[in-house]
Amino acid sequence: MERGGRLKKADQAREPRLAASAARKRSHAGPAEVELAGQRFGSSPAPVALEAQSGDLAQTLRSRFGFEAFRPHQEGVCQAVVGGRDVLLVMPTGAGKSLCYQLPGIARGNTTLVISPLIALMEDQVAKLRAQGFRAERIHSGRERAESRETCFAYLDGKLDFLFIAPERLAVPRFPEMLAKRPLGLIAVDEAHCISQWGHDFRPEYRMLGERLPLLRPAPVIALTATATPRVQEDICKQLGLEDPILSIHGFRRENIAIEVVELTPKQRVPALIKLLEDGTRRPAIIYAPTRKAAEQQAEELAGRFPAMAYHAGMPGSAREEVQTGFLSGKYDAIVATIAFGMGIDKANVRTVIHTGLPASVEGYYQEIGRAGRDGLPSAAVLMHSWNDRRTHEFFMERDYPPLPEVEKVYRALSDEPRSRNSIESRLNLDPQVFEKALEKLWIHKGAIVDVEENVTKGDSGWRKPYASQREHRVAQLEAISRFTSAPNCRMLELVGHFGDQEDSRKPCGRCDVCAPDDCAVQQRRPPTRTEADALDGIIAALQARDGLATGKLWRELFEGSTVDRKKFEDLLGGLARAGYVGVYDDSFERDGEVITYRRASLTYEGKECRESVAEHVQLTVAAPTPAATKRKPKGRLAAGRASKSPGEGDAVLVEALKTWRLAEAKRRRQPPFTVFPNKTLEALAIGRPASQDELLQVSGIGPKLAERYGTQILAIVAKTK
Ligand code: ADP
Ligand code: MG
Repeated sequence: MERGGRLKKADQAREPRLAASAARKRSHAGPAEVELAGQRFGSSPAPVALEAQSGDLAQTLRSRFGFEAFRPHQEGVCQAVVGGRDVLLVMPTGAGKSLCYQLPGIARGNTTLVISPLIALMEDQVAKLRAQGFRAERIHSGRERAESRETCFAYLDGKLDFLFIAPERLAVPRFPEMLAKRPLGLIAVDEAHCISQWGHDFRPEYRMLGERLPLLRPAPVIALTATATPRVQEDICKQLGLEDPILSIHGFRRENIAIEVVELTPKQRVPALIKLLEDGTRRPAIIYAPTRKAAEQQAEELAGRFPAMAYHAGMPGSAREEVQTGFLSGKYDAIVATIAFGMGIDKANVRTVIHTGLPASVEGYYQEIGRAGRDGLPSAAVLMHSWNDRRTHEFFMERDYPPLPEVEKVYRALSDEPRSRNSIESRLNLDPQVFEKALEKLWIHKGAIVDVEENVTKGDSGWRKPYASQREHRVAQLEAISRFTSAPNCRMLELVGHFGDQEDSRKPCGRCDVCAPDDCAVQQRRPPTRTEADALDGIIAALQARDGLATGKLWRELFEGSTVDRKKFEDLLGGLARAGYVGVYDDSFERDGEVITYRRASLTYEGKECRESVAEHVQLTVAAPTPAATKRKPKGRLAAGRASKSPGEGDAVLVEALKTWRLAEAKRRRQPPFTVFPNKTLEALAIGRPASQDELLQVSGIGPKLAERYGTQILAIVAKTK
């Protein structure tokens, strides 16, 4: 699999240094150096006595961290960081990334600054480090002012080994300057994919890191993430300003997870889920449901049979915590969650991860199934999906990323003089939600300057390209996950290829539904019908005449206009692949500077030698019926998102009160008010009038993060404006 072209270019530029470092490496033969030497990005480590150091590191690992040995790749990364190099580390969840900043942090001395996106993650890491005898502290919105002040003093007195902060803390006036009063030993950016708008969990707060980090240098920076495609990797390096970084991208192949992808209508999924999990050896299980409601319904269905609970962002914090601890301790056998569950979850014996809907991206999917089988024992990942799932995603995509012409309309309405958002909005005939999204996108891409009073000024005209490519990227992510479900190739190979893990063996996994169709837990097979049998033989004959045809061309030449539509054709190819007659591989070409990928089908040895009908050796999957053409589509782009009620008279006061508060908060954060939360959420608050944290979380648009940060303040405002 090709890596991102631009990264490759960067490697070439470094080639002279590569040769020099290779020579140096030959004179030291430590295992970690071999690992670094084998990498495309290896270049000279800083002048540290490596051999002496590697012994020291192993010693520190044992004496300070209590681990017997390094896990794969840890030692090489630790050496590089101790030697002062910037590093991007991409390894799956649970691989042991934290140690790769903790140990070098201790080895380098001074404080290690850790930037982390979630309070829960910070608390967890701090507790663990303290238990190991390190001096670790954290500053975040959940702590008292006095505590934070104490922490700052401890830092300034040189009493901290580790200081954890949320990224937005660096925007607080004078905070980075305070940090800069002492030299940091190391800067670690955890969950670094959040900085990239191409990543699946983009957080605008991360964007300021690029600006603030230079102030905290010359400490080396290590960026860590479990999920980054080559494009995201490149983006992280660029945005964080990593200098000549070592890229360590490893270990995406999971040997013990059998992946199964199965087409089922939404109705068929719950029975399949029950059947699957009634077998106790398939539990504990994590089920990822597409919506909060689905999570609750599915949990209820399961709970009648074994201990199962729902887990989603709409539940109060205490309930979520109870479910999470209950799952960890074995009290619950299954958790039905929305994606809110599992960041940083460390439960070794999860036997099955099930998706009861199509995930939004391959990156997210991979991260979620990665929570299965951390103990190394055989585990399964079952993905249930159907045609309609993709449509739903497309619908949300359209809503969250308005089409370019609509954003353009908003941009045109801006002028060089600041004008109030309301006056601009009222001149445009746009749905308020579309307007808000469009404005937000313009702001992100600098096409609009929005001050804290929500006065908007026309910004840079260069926003179109980045916005268009961000939008295209979302489309491509959907395309990628759809391709993943329909590709007749080894599932694990597809995933490994997606992440650009170049040291992978490229061998089929032998466990997934494509490699081992007879071991499937859910998928049902059937023999081909007469027509299908003829079609199968037709495909073999066509490839025997001309091997390696593009699949699109193959279909057009053989079947276009017949009852074998494109989807059926893919099913047939899948059957042939599973039976070992055909392989399908990616190919690409460039047009107008754009790389276009497609697939070619090619015969295996069996396929080439085959002289009789293959039909009796081929099993086809029992597919979910495709939706009839008459099925209704969501009406209008915003039908599903629109609130059924609008704020009434009495609520207007509350809306105003909330706006005033939001403005103050925006000023404090020095960002436009919609970054605190959008109008849509504000209105939902006015309608819902939450009286407790529980009720607050029921309000659409309010997740645990917002509730945690602002819950008390919002509830107080609601209570006051009765
Ligand atoms: P990641 O951040 O990659 O998801 P963590 O850093 O949280 O993973 O590590 C996962 C688990 O592995 C933790 O419980 C950690 O203590 C453990 N671990 C890490 N390195 C080692 C090691 N060298 N030996 C034994 N256990 C380790
Ligand atoms: Mg981690």
